[in-house]
Amino acid sequence: MVIETVTERHLGREALLAMRAVADAVDLARLVERDVATGALSKGDASPVTIADFSVQALIAARLARDRPSDTLVAEEDATALRTAPDLSTRVVDVVRAAEPGLDADQILDWIDRGGGNPGRRFWALDPIDGTKGLLRGCQYAVALALIVDGTVQLGVLGCPRLSLAHQPSLSAEADASSEGGIAVAVRGRGAWWSARSDESLTPLSVSRVSEPARACVLHSFETPHSDVEALRRVVETLCVERPPWLMDSQAKHVVLASGAADVLLRFPTLHGCHEAIWDQAAGSVLIEEAGGRVTDLAGHPLDFSTGRHLSRNEGLVATNGVLHDAVLKAVQTVLQKHSLPGA
Ligand code: AMP
Ligand code: MG
Repeated sequence: MVIETVTERHLGREALLAMRAVADAVDLARLVERDVATGALSKGDASPVTIADFSVQALIAARLARDRPSDTLVAEEDATALRTAPDLSTRVVDVVRAAEPGLDADQILDWIDRGGGNPGRRFWALDPIDGTKGLLRGCQYAVALALIVDGTVQLGVLGCPRLSLAHQPSLSAEADASSEGGIAVAVRGRGAWWSARSDESLTPLSVSRVSEPARACVLHSFETPHSDVEALRRVVETLCVERPPWLMDSQAKHVVLASGAADVLLRFPTLHGCHEAIWDQAAGSVLIEEAGGRVTDLAGHPLDFSTGRHLSRNEGLVATNGVLHDAVLKAVQTVLQKHSLPGA
């Protein structure tokens, strides 16, 4: 995917370089989609990691090292497991070299390890494959890159290889085989846009105007270990929401909310003291805010990206079209306090 029509003047230099890196990462991910099931590893927290995760991290780290050599990268993966798995490592090296010829194998593993940077005053946050389980299941996933300065997300780019905003929402987790994918970008103070794969122009994103909770379309993770479904059920019941929740993997949900195709996005910790990783919320939160929506934690506090690799001052997530925010927060607090659930 080449983004010829996105002008530097319109979005700024950082956005352009981030979009180009994510666009190439999306192409790379689509190329290896069919091969990821073989060779997926299980990480310490039992979540899967694939050649797509490693290859995308290497590619984006290499681009940032070239274009912004003094910037820090804070990313989800590291190359430790690859260094003791030569077969997997060879596959990753082959995939990355196809996109970025001339890199040597050791250098590729070193690029991946550049993601272990310390989140300081200015840094990039990357989830190379957000929703790896979705990728493996034939559902949504996203390449998520954000620039954070002084604890605030200034720029977010989400590459969504299986998302289409052209169709009517199906409320299905499974990606439509005909989905062409695209890239969402938001620049703080400038707006949020979607660029479909086949149409390189930028379409402004803006949230819905639904104001009655009963008519809301509520997004939630497909994965029950990632967010408490019992809390979701109770909040939806409290708000008398008529439609069943739309279960979807990754920050593709944030794009759908920003586009106005859904109205509310909820995330509840499954354990007390469990905090979201910054790369799981950074790009998506600026996208929703720039599309006119509102993003807070379950207590109504803004997300604070100055606390390291995790949002340790925030629990859970409430993202809405803005109009519905106070009503949803109230229902969330009622449910959490009544049932002593994490996040109360
Ligand atoms: P989603 O598809 O919205 O659940 O988001 C996928 C992301 O959830 C993954 O990229 C993980 O970083 C993150 N994740 C994995 N385990 C958990 C957990 N127990 N609680 C919250 N998020 C998690
Ligand atoms: Mg993730």
